[in-house]
Amino acid sequence: MASIIDTIKAKIDVVEEIGLVVALQKSGRSFKGLCPFHNERTPSFHVFAESQNWHCFGCNEGGDVFTFVQKQQGLEFRDALAYLAEKAGVSIEDNGTRNPEEEREASAIRERLRKLNEDALLWFHQMLLRSKDAAEARAYIQSRGISSDSVIAFGLGYAPNHGNALSSFLLGRGYTEHELMNGGLARAREGAGNTGSVRSVEGIGEASGGVYDYFRQRIIFPIRDMRGRVIGFGGRALGDGQPKYLNSPQTILFEKNSILYALDLAKDAIKLAKQAIIVEGYVDAIIAHQYGTRQTVACIGSAITEKHIQQLKKLTKQVTLALDPDAAGATATEHGIQEALKAFDRSVVPVPLVADGRRTATRKEGKRNEPRGMIRLEEQVDAEINVLQLPPGQDPDEVIRQDFSLWSYAVAHPIALVDYYFATKTANLNLRHPGGKTEAAKRLLPVISMISDRVKRDAYIRKLAALIAVDERSLHDELRRVLRKQANTAVTAVFSEPLGPRSIQETMGQQPPITREAVQDDEIEPAEPAKEKSSREGQEQRNYVLDRSWQSRLQWEDYLIGLLLQDPGLSQHVCGIINDGDFTGTDTRELYRILNSVYQRGSSPLHQSFEQYVPSALLETIARARKSVELKSPLSGTGLIKDAKQCASRLKRMRLLQSNTELRYLMSEAKEAGDVESVQQFQQKLLAIHRQLRTIDSAMHLHG
Ligand SMILES: [Zn+2]
Repeated sequence: MASIIDTIKAKIDVVEEIGLVVALQKSGRSFKGLCPFHNERTPSFHVFAESQNWHCFGCNEGGDVFTFVQKQQGLEFRDALAYLAEKAGVSIEDNGTRNPEEEREASAIRERLRKLNEDALLWFHQMLLRSKDAAEARAYIQSRGISSDSVIAFGLGYAPNHGNALSSFLLGRGYTEHELMNGGLARAREGAGNTGSVRSVEGIGEASGGVYDYFRQRIIFPIRDMRGRVIGFGGRALGDGQPKYLNSPQTILFEKNSILYALDLAKDAIKLAKQAIIVEGYVDAIIAHQYGTRQTVACIGSAITEKHIQQLKKLTKQVTLALDPDAAGATATEHGIQEALKAFDRSVVPVPLVADGRRTATRKEGKRNEPRGMIRLEEQVDAEINVLQLPPGQDPDEVIRQDFSLWSYAVAHPIALVDYYFATKTANLNLRHPGGKTEAAKRLLPVISMISDRVKRDAYIRKLAALIAVDERSLHDELRRVLRKQANTAVTAVFSEPLGPRSIQETMGQQPPITREAVQDDEIEPAEPAKEKSSREGQEQRNYVLDRSWQSRLQWEDYLIGLLLQDPGLSQHVCGIINDGDFTGTDTRELYRILNSVYQRGSSPLHQSFEQYVPSALLETIARARKSVELKSPLSGTGLIKDAKQCASRLKRMRLLQSNTELRYLMSEAKEAGDVESVQQFQQKLLAIHRQLRTIDSAMHLHG
């Protein structure tokens, strides 16, 4: 069960939230801007959309959306929680303690919003069918080949260009301005404040009162939940209107990053076809349905998120990505695949290397054949993710309309993931040229190394050998080197072990989480920047490994909190090693802060009464933390201190490795952009991090 904090984080995008106060500029996969917490002229404040984290490399502040809101608005955790919960439409009253009266009230509000959406939908739809103004919209729909049956089935509509036409209609039906705004159908008309919205109010009539329509001069695509209830709208601009696609803002019904368009109409077909096809646009989905490929859904917005996949996972194990086939789309596809893997990945228990003593054996022999911490497709992915190959430069809807047999063949024969990588990663290489061959091997061997099934792996080695006409054996040698290198550069591999419920128990239960052996295994020097490959694939793999290490980081954090709860005096031994900014978990970070300040104030005993100091949203974490310590054989005295220090050092190390990864990513971006100055700055910061890592490492040896 997701905690309230997780639910809030899933609903609020850190980029969007920070973007409200900091002018952010997209730079590769991250965003940068001027730090709001220290004075600077060139931006060193970065927001990472994928990890939903931010970091300033100038003043070294960082964290998640909670820390940002706390710092920026000067709020206590409790108040930041209340602020973000309200924004996300999440009740912070625990479900159990919420009284039935409030429950009824909340559901009445939701019910009324649904009604509001239904009324708006009918109005938009009537506009499209009957309004004179909608001629351009109707022509556009016709030009995209959407039939009138589809217009009705999908409830397409039109939002005219008057500023308040819909608002006046809905106000006339008894809804309040407040409800229109909460439902994402209108915006407040403001004299001052956000200049962006003032500019867009131009040409609005005077009779609208305090609000104006959110959607204007757009074709409207109603978005429904799995049960077919309208929860929001997508609007495509007619003419040159910007943005081209505008979706409803986040409301209590509309969760932007989890919605799959047409899922209500597709769900039965998905079960029947045992396949879900994901396309990128509303029109792609509508046309696919119109021509009978009804197992098709569209992801709203740009990237596929884990939430999308979670919903499909309940219906099928085969997800076929049919995303934009051009060059930019290929990157998006790759990103989608990563997301898909992440979501499916969690449903199976990864094979822990520690379980059967195999790791000890291989170490004795001095071999490291296992790509520890890396993705193992066949074993870990509980599903088939494949890619639909379409002619370059053509969107799915075009292919369907022009050559349906081509489309249906592609649907029935999607290309396997690794084959897809074979095609895309060698597309721009001359495979007859020695340089091209080397590059192809360099790009594909890491992909092949992700396959854990030996037979399949060998088959792909043969395929690669044939493709670039080189000796198979030399590729096998090269593959072994890649695997070894991964074992060495996958610095988080050791931390990735306690993944999944079974292995948590194994690590936390039978074995203490910090053993002499684990520390030895951890003696991996952080590679100097120059030595390590800086290719994008390498970067992505590292990011991926990092994602997986997230879970284990949280487990170590629970464990440390558990130790501190057991013996608050341990604070004095760990506060020199770690501070609250080093925590990844919003809950563990806040608990650490409270524990520390309670200890500093000298107010004990903590044992039973600690719970009274903390917001109820954190009680679950306390229980979890206590449990993670209880599962372990009891320690006392110096053993406990050593354990706590080890754990803190380990967490600090993970934090530094995260900065390391972020900096490398930013540095490769800066290199590509030819920004010499930034490259030098990042280099300096990297060296500082490496120095800190070495200090931590030698301290860990001392503790051990
Ligand atoms: Zn700063």
